[in-house]
Amino acid sequence: MSQKLIVVLGGGESGMGAAILAQKKGFRVFLSDNGMLREEHRELLRAYMIDFEEGGHTEARVLEADEIVKSPGIPDTVPVMLKVLDKGIHVISEIEFAGRHTDAKMICITGSNGKTTTASLIYHILKSAGLKVGLAGNIGKSFARQVAEDYFDYYVLELSSFQLEGVYDFKADIAVLLNITPDHLDRYDHNMQHYVDAKMRILRNQQTEDAFIYWIDDPVVTKELQKIEPMVTHYSFGEKRRDHTTAYTENGKLFICTKEHTFNMELELLALEGMHNVYNSMASGIVAKLMDVSDEQLRTSLSDFKGVPHRLEKVSTVRGVQYVNDSKATNVNSCWYALQSMRTKTVLILGGTDKGNDYSEIEELVISKARALIFLGKDNSALHAFFDGKVKVIRDAVSMKEAVDIAYELAEKGDTVLLSPCCASFDLFKNYEDRGDQFRECVRRL
Ligand code: ADP
Repeated sequence: MSQKLIVVLGGGESGMGAAILAQKKGFRVFLSDNGMLREEHRELLRAYMIDFEEGGHTEARVLEADEIVKSPGIPDTVPVMLKVLDKGIHVISEIEFAGRHTDAKMICITGSNGKTTTASLIYHILKSAGLKVGLAGNIGKSFARQVAEDYFDYYVLELSSFQLEGVYDFKADIAVLLNITPDHLDRYDHNMQHYVDAKMRILRNQQTEDAFIYWIDDPVVTKELQKIEPMVTHYSFGEKRRDHTTAYTENGKLFICTKEHTFNMELELLALEGMHNVYNSMASGIVAKLMDVSDEQLRTSLSDFKGVPHRLEKVSTVRGVQYVNDSKATNVNSCWYALQSMRTKTVLILGGTDKGNDYSEIEELVISKARALIFLGKDNSALHAFFDGKVKVIRDAVSMKEAVDIAYELAEKGDTVLLSPCCASFDLFKNYEDRGDQFRECVRRL
């Protein structure tokens, strides 16, 4: 009997990983991408002798699949997916596929904000503790590719709601759900519950011996937990100590209480600043303690973590003004945390592709902390409609250079210039990395 045919839809990082892993495991494989592949991916597919097409899907070939591994970027509503679903072909994510081919323990991180930071911090802690651990999911080399080419005892996986949609038998040994706030609602028919349901799939298949770590003050998550009542062992973190909270802060210290032991550390010593990062550090610390990382190791790792670029990244100080790159803040909630962590008057650069933002969430913080606002976008009308009259100085910019030059002109000694845009970057930049890189470059040239 011939081997099962795996069709991989989408030739990005995860699709490439899935195709390579499928080939290595002896399946028949066909990769199909609607757009054009990167040259290095083309070369890799040829090197692995994987059959592929680009610039469109040949439906007949796709529909021959015994199972489809779909890139998280492809919605179910595109024509080829409608046919696939109509025919009843099983569709999974690369995470599900790779999870079938490894016995490593899975530490999975999801949430609307803080995934990359927390996943990277947990990876840093575990790696520094000497464990054989891989970091994958939304970050770097795909999970499937690592399963195909490396050997790890543990994986730290950053999982988006799209990736979670395609998991069925996959199980997180330790799951971290940081928070749920509206994001990507365009992909969920503007139905918040669909988005919430996707996020809650991180609990799927978890048993009592597994761990579920969550933010106890998140109203959405706690409501869902009351509804679902999962049997998994719960560990929570929050700003204040409450009954059964595993991690909390008190008197300027962070505490993590496990059954046998209490870890504590001065908040001042944490490498990452801002309350949101205290949460990320607490979630990471709980994971570390569940994995028996020593107090000393944990303390060192929480204080020497270098952070992730474009997330409250300190670029430099010019004439007594500090410049901070938070380009990854593509929604209002992330900007709220960024502003909240500011200890000085702030010149805030924001704007871009507005996803239907409600700026009232940051209104108070803007009024109390912003010396000036600089709107950086092709169309700043929504920002003007909301902020005009609320902040004295508001200026518009259509390039990063212009925005940074205006910020330089307006900021006073001791201030912070913060790029925390609340918006996606696609109007003026390739992506948020490009936006942050340009910011860094313009600041260096001041
Ligand atoms: P994600 O991978 O989920 O997009 P990141 O770690 O890249 O999250 O952080 C994106 C932005 O979200 C950061 O710039 C920061 O402003 C904000 N953020 C980080 N952690 C949290 C958190 N725990 N809660 C709310 N906002 C956060």
